[in-house]
Amino acid sequence: MAFKSDIQIARAARKLPIQEIGAKLGIPLDDLVPYGHDKAKVGQDFINGVQDRKTGKLILVTAINPTPAGEGKTTTTVGLGDGLNRIGKKACVCIREASLGPNFGMKGGAAGGGYAQIVPMEDMNLHFTGDFHAITSAHSLLAAMIDNHIYWGNELDIDVRRVVWRRVVDMNDRALRQVNVGLGGVTNGFPRETGYDITVASEVMAILCLSNDLNDLQRRLGAMIVAYRRDRTPVFARDLKADGAMTVLLKDALQPNLVQTLENNPAFVHGGPFANIAHGCNSVIATTTALKLSDYVVTEAGFGADLGAEKFMNIKCRKAGLAPSVVVCVATVRAMKMNGGVPKAELGTENVEAVQSGCPNLGRHIENLKSFGVPVVVAINHFVTDTEAEVQAIKDFVAEQGGEAILSRHWELGSDGSQELATRVAEIADADTANFAPIYPDEMALADKIRTICKRIYRADDAVMDQKILAQLRDWEEQGYGHLPVCMAKTQYSFTTDPALRGAPTGHLVPVREVRLSAGAGFVVVVCGEIMTMPGLPRTPSAETIMLNDDGQIEGLF
Ligand code: ADP
Ligand code: MG
Repeated sequence: MAFKSDIQIARAARKLPIQEIGAKLGIPLDDLVPYGHDKAKVGQDFINGVQDRKTGKLILVTAINPTPAGEGKTTTTVGLGDGLNRIGKKACVCIREASLGPNFGMKGGAAGGGYAQIVPMEDMNLHFTGDFHAITSAHSLLAAMIDNHIYWGNELDIDVRRVVWRRVVDMNDRALRQVNVGLGGVTNGFPRETGYDITVASEVMAILCLSNDLNDLQRRLGAMIVAYRRDRTPVFARDLKADGAMTVLLKDALQPNLVQTLENNPAFVHGGPFANIAHGCNSVIATTTALKLSDYVVTEAGFGADLGAEKFMNIKCRKAGLAPSVVVCVATVRAMKMNGGVPKAELGTENVEAVQSGCPNLGRHIENLKSFGVPVVVAINHFVTDTEAEVQAIKDFVAEQGGEAILSRHWELGSDGSQELATRVAEIADADTANFAPIYPDEMALADKIRTICKRIYRADDAVMDQKILAQLRDWEEQGYGHLPVCMAKTQYSFTTDPALRGAPTGHLVPVREVRLSAGAGFVVVVCGEIMTMPGLPRTPSAETIMLNDDGQIEGLF
């Protein structure tokens, strides 16, 4: 049987005008700012006005460690949202916006897949409502103001060798990773070395996604450290008086974007921070607004549960006062097989034994998630190549652990395939058994927060931090940053720092290479391994085959 591509399915969608989607959530026309016919932002006055309403149940979708086999977190998030609506619940979905650059490298979108997608998917994967352009502009403004300040006399005494604010662009462009600026003579300023990151890696992105409102946004922007003086004291964005103008540029970008699923259910798509040097989930504003407008909100955290869910709980939920009612951990037969040592080319052949030997990876994620005090249910995201015996092997494994796994066929069938999952998830959420708590308190020393995650989540023997790193952490504690959560940046493919080590390894150490302070976002980034903040394009980028067809439709993007 031939299956339609994601874009073919998305194109055939019968979208409702965005005003009708807003009406499903009770958003009056005046409070919806339409961006075309099928996208809208929700006005701040309306958001302020719903704060006293009761809060819905928050459902987090996370997964096992990603493998090249693909797990389908977004697909399952959308499928579960549609499933909940299908069984008569008032539910909506909250996911991240897509970064534009990577679309031109490898094929693959961020709007879900099959019959569990968010539309308009082409827009969502390209310019959308311009949020990322606004972030790029705000980031660039600050960069320009730093060099301009130095040019006009450097009153703040910025050490030009210690400017830490880099530049950003939403494109995979490895040639920009390290650049020299200010070349060409006296009128062009002072030459110095800097570099570019991709827009989603900007601290401005992380801030936009953690801010409660415009005041909070401006305060956080002002608190960003942009450079140091010769005496190592920090220079803040507010010292350059950049925070006001940056907030102006970001005013509309802070408002959440409303779109719809293929089944015309509401979805918020807002913000998209990196899941390594940042926390990897959609904006706090989108999630908190959605929780006031519907009874169930299904949201996704990036990468596997060891990174994405850990940060969702320890950073986003802690800071925004959110508490998930239930966690859905996505697993697939194919990914279990890969964890069990089967190469990608052989995933199509039945191999129950490999599924079984890959399951400990899932088992550990379940245990970890439960340690946050939240009930967990496993969603087996069904691929048409899966056999019954393979699916049963996952169910048996999870049952032995005292949990439950439910097969869901949303990719193939939309909400026809996800009602069992939706019914069970709603039951668990309604039972109110969650007793959520982050796994470390604010008061814990920064180094101990790092050790706690390494031992309790990665199951390492310890974190390895040299004297320089420990001294840096102590300095930050003295400067008043000790209460911040830590944001781990390590490979998403393994519990360890070695991407090739699948399954559930123990006995390893986690070497900490570097620590960085994101003072505005409000976390300490802990770099464990090679972290890429400006991706490159592959030898044959997908851009070579992306084009408009004779009907003016986009081809080759997905
Ligand atoms: P994640 O959010 O975990 O990165 P996505 O949901 O974006 O994963 O899915 C990644 C890719 O895998 C998408 O192209 C999607 O169409 C595909 N996919 C997801 N689930 C299935 C499935 N059950 N069968 C076939 N393809 C799937
Ligand atoms: Mg995703």
